[in-house]
Amino acid sequence: MPDLNKLIQEFDSKMSPLELLIFNELSQHGVSMYVKRDDLIDAHLSGNKWRKLNYNLREAIRLEKPAILTFGGAYSNHIYAVAAAGRQFGLKTIGIIRGEAPKEYGSTLRFASKCGMKLHFLSRSAYREKTIPQDIDLSSCYILPEGGTNCLGLKGCKRIVTEVQQQIPTHTKIDYWCTSSGTGGTASGIISALNNDSNALVFSALKGDFLKTDIQKLLETCEAKTYNNWQLITDYHFGGYAKFKPELIEFINQFKSTTGIPLDPIYTGKMFYGIFDLLKKGFFEKGSTIVAVHTGGLQGVAGFNERFGGVH
Ligand SMILES: *Cc1c(COP(=O)(O)O)cnc(C)c1O
Repeated sequence: MPDLNKLIQEFDSKMSPLELLIFNELSQHGVSMYVKRDDLIDAHLSGNKWRKLNYNLREAIRLEKPAILTFGGAYSNHIYAVAAAGRQFGLKTIGIIRGEAPKEYGSTLRFASKCGMKLHFLSRSAYREKTIPQDIDLSSCYILPEGGTNCLGLKGCKRIVTEVQQQIPTHTKIDYWCTSSGTGGTASGIISALNNDSNALVFSALKGDFLKTDIQKLLETCEAKTYNNWQLITDYHFGGYAKFKPELIEFINQFKSTTGIPLDPIYTGKMFYGIFDLLKKGFFEKGSTIVAVHTGGLQGVAGFNERFGGVH
């Protein structure tokens, strides 16, 4: 039996790069921007989904649970990451997938089943109730919520901040931290690690402003503290979760050809579009420094292109 904790620690020992972005519009506005490249952590087990899994996997091992059971949609970055973690560390994984089984799997589910993840499909209403199929032996499962968002997930995301603080040139004052948000786990980790010291801009990938209360609740539950160093930005969801407009796809393609950095259309593309739009509108004072967190999600590009096409 390999020492799983040791394997996880080894995987965890590298820091993802922090890159200074060279971009005309930034220098025109006198703004510096660093990108924390969590998309480069690993080819498969990557982004904020790895951050959220890190301490949850250790907890599953501590509790001697041989299987990780979790939930997600058919194109979920979280499902993909859990399946990849299962393959990487030799854990069993079970995915409860929202919606009826498709005739043909999309790229995320193809990868997940190739990694050995057992897939169970639930109708949308059964999924809402989180009904776990009766043939699953729950006592052997570590249950992770959707998106991997819980207090251990939040703890893992704090590391994004502590790594950047080690990597950024000394005496650089960071004025803004930007992250994309879906369940709010990543944003909560960043906000709590900043500890009211620097501002976080949280770009919602979904329509509405419910993330505001979700994030507040997460912070209260996990940190028992309130924070006022953040704001939710709700203007860049492009119609809602996984919705898009041609100008978003154009921006993503343009951004990649200018900077070499690939973005996904569900989360990071919308955030970077928003940052550059705010920059144009004069939101960031001259001389300010931004850290934008690239939360990964690039596995989703293949599935997006299977359905809609257009992302180069
Ligand atoms: C899941 C995901 C998010 C959202 O993270 P939350 O912790 O759920 O808010 C952001 N970016 C990417 C690339 C993701 O996969």
